[in-house]
Amino acid sequence: MTVTRFAPSPNGPLHLGHAYAAIVGHDRAARDGGAFLLRIEDIDGARSRAELAEEFRADLRWLGLDFREVVPQAQRIVTYRAAADVLREQGLLYRCTCTRAEIIAAASRMGPDGPVYPGTCRHRVVDSHADAAWRLDVAGAIALTGPLDWTDENRGRQQARPDLFGDVVLWRKDAPASYHLAATLDDAADGVTVVTRGADLFVATHVHRLLQALLGLPVPVWHHHPVLVEADGRKLAKRRGSPALADRRRAGGDGPALAADLRAARFDTGISLSDTIDYQP
Ligand code: GLU
Repeated sequence: MTVTRFAPSPNGPLHLGHAYAAIVGHDRAARDGGAFLLRIEDIDGARSRAELAEEFRADLRWLGLDFREVVPQAQRIVTYRAAADVLREQGLLYRCTCTRAEIIAAASRMGPDGPVYPGTCRHRVVDSHADAAWRLDVAGAIALTGPLDWTDENRGRQQARPDLFGDVVLWRKDAPASYHLAATLDDAADGVTVVTRGADLFVATHVHRLLQALLGLPVPVWHHHPVLVEADGRKLAKRRGSPALADRRRAGGDGPALAADLRAARFDTGISLSDTIDYQP
């Protein structure tokens, strides 16, 4: 059965870009008579606001999207910890105390998320009481798994390139599991078979594919969809004035009509779809 999910982080209201993503996920599952899940990604510490999750549910209902809600991330920390332990026991995680400024100063190349971590702490003994993040030894991990590939429904077969990111953080100093670890484990636990998400997260899939191989998780298919951008080509964001779905809803807007417009790619003036993958190796 086809299972897709919409996985918003409750650190700000949903806007048109989220509505588009939810519709893609919903319709992709509906096409196969499958299930569409809602997963609240609320592990972002103080930035996560519980009241927003209720708004998200109301927004999806208003758009006319049926969904089944699964366990939110904040209730899955034990699972993330267990997976991190597995990787640690394999010698694939190391502690890192570098600050962002230190990384910027020492980095010699840019990756998809900014300056690539130069591996400073990889062979360093870090005080066990120090406030540290845990990084994945990506070269060590690739040596274990060998070459990997994955499939995007729209773009076809891809060779996994987790090396593009350098040694990613899997366990954060300020919050538990990183997005990469949490999302990968959750998609497996939730039985997601087609991961629908914006093309802005296309490259993140390289890391997720590596984690799946290391942790023995099932491998879904991906469906990276275009994202809504403003006239200057930048992604829609609430802080840049894209109206919240909740505001439209409360103002008496017609949710199903909005969903129909988004499906037909009829957008407000200045908004369009972009299928660009920002990072090219
Ligand atoms: N919580 C992520 C976001 O809001 C979801 C990313 C994903 O779909 O994998 O961007």
